[in-house]
Amino acid sequence: MTTDGEQRRSDRDMPSTDRGTLPITGVEVENDADLMDQALAEARLAEAHGDVPVGAVVVRNGEVIARRHNERELTGDPTAHAEILALRDAAAVVGSWRLNDCTLVVTLEPCAMCGGAAVNARLGRLVYGAADLAAGACLSLYNVCDDPRLNHRVELVAGVEAEVCGRLLSDFFAVRR
Ligand code: ZN
Repeated sequence: MTTDGEQRRSDRDMPSTDRGTLPITGVEVENDADLMDQALAEARLAEAHGDVPVGAVVVRNGEVIARRHNERELTGDPTAHAEILALRDAAAVVGSWRLNDCTLVVTLEPCAMCGGAAVNARLGRLVYGAADLAAGACLSLYNVCDDPRLNHRVELVAGVEAEVCGRLLSDFFAVRR
């Protein structure tokens, strides 16, 4: 899509909140790639505070209702992964811990904690970008999103804009080595 680059630029130019999180715009988005662009824009904000650039958005009825990035270093909280923060914000917006009608879009394959949180949220759908061969729990090492022993299965879409998502991470670690 020709407008992807422009969309990302305009996202970055928006005023940030205190945490550096992009404001929720209420802009309706049409497809997983557009949503991933928003998650990527969110991910890039994590670098400002030395956090691994992972970003996540939660969408409901075509509207982004939550958008967060990794804040583990910023907060010193081992659970402050982008997905956990976004799911918490989304639940606050929805007014319930049940997020059946929501989609979580995240730049990196969720870990066991975040995949578990998606199941516990009864999340409807999970979309991720790059696979995480070292810690991914949504296909790579485990698949907590689709385990018949658990009481909920999350519809899973993997590999959306995987190359861009992966490059963001490899560039981040390359600078730090
Ligand atoms: Zn995680």
